[in-house]
Amino acid sequence: MKAAVFHGPRDVRIEDVAEPSGPAPDEVVLEVLRAAICGTDSSEWDHGPILCRPGVVLGHEFVGRVAEVGSDVSGLRVGDRVVSGAGISCGRCAWCVRGRTNLCREYRTLGLQLDGGLAELVATPASICRHVPEECDDDAAAMAQPLAVALHALSRVGQRRDDSVAVVGAGGIGSFIVAGAAHSATGGRVVAIDVDDSRLAAASALGAHATANATGRDLSELLLELSDGVGFDVVIEASGAPHAPAAAIAGARRGGRVLLVGLHGAPCELDLTRMILREVDLFTTVAHVCDSDVPAALELLATSEVAAVAAGPRIPLDALVEEGLRPLAERRAGGKILVTPRAY
Ligand SMILES: [Zn+2]
Ligand SMILES: [Zn+2]
Repeated sequence: MKAAVFHGPRDVRIEDVAEPSGPAPDEVVLEVLRAAICGTDSSEWDHGPILCRPGVVLGHEFVGRVAEVGSDVSGLRVGDRVVSGAGISCGRCAWCVRGRTNLCREYRTLGLQLDGGLAELVATPASICRHVPEECDDDAAAMAQPLAVALHALSRVGQRRDDSVAVVGAGGIGSFIVAGAAHSATGGRVVAIDVDDSRLAAASALGAHATANATGRDLSELLLELSDGVGFDVVIEASGAPHAPAAAIAGARRGGRVLLVGLHGAPCELDLTRMILREVDLFTTVAHVCDSDVPAALELLATSEVAAVAAGPRIPLDALVEEGLRPLAERRAGGKILVTPRAY
């Protein structure tokens, strides 16, 4: 079968590889209907391996149709259309027992450490598969995993309906965070900040009540200006820009919360005293909790225009590098890039 194999930096090849060799007892094999790619994939292609195991089939965002069912699997049948959460946890360690499966001691991800969904077929544990509602087409369902990551981020910071929320960085995950925050907000304003007007236009379409272009602006001043000088209840830093965490803390109101989503290549300096004296709480987030975040993502996709607004080009697997990973790495991709592994 055809699959996108990671060999090293700037070396992802579309190759013929062996099909998954029948599902393990707790697994299903999916015929991949649609996959999507994100900054994680393009970073691995550009300067990996970061998390990725060389030789692995990429792809952690995908929807498929069940083609084979392992002997111990119940609740899934051949022909079912499902998304896989892609993150695999052990179910037994101290973190799994407390429901924090994304922090599992043995956490592994399809498409990074294990063969993923940028292929015609993929094997996945049945326990991380969820049925796709009919209202979700394949393009929408392929966005369930990244949307689950965004909804997990929001769950970490405990957004209240009337919170004023600023989202700094309206890229892949940031734009989904805007969508989730706007969906939950009834009284509070959700403001998206970015340096790219097309991303800000998409953020508006996803529900942001206001947007601001931060080009040439001091970010902390901009955050204060946008919140009448008092700061936001919640500032979500999703840009990964080196100066942004400090600005996010300065732009939170007294008693406010800051959520760090963007990853950083180097340590950064924070004014902790200023943070402590204003009781600003700092949160972090990683991946998602399959049991709660994937169903929430599917529900939002089924009941909103999020997928239609977020969708970018749809490309064949053969074009993955030149029309997918490269433009994404070079920050010139518009919208979520969707990949069709075979011509149906
Ligand atoms: Zn991703
Ligand atoms: Zn575990």
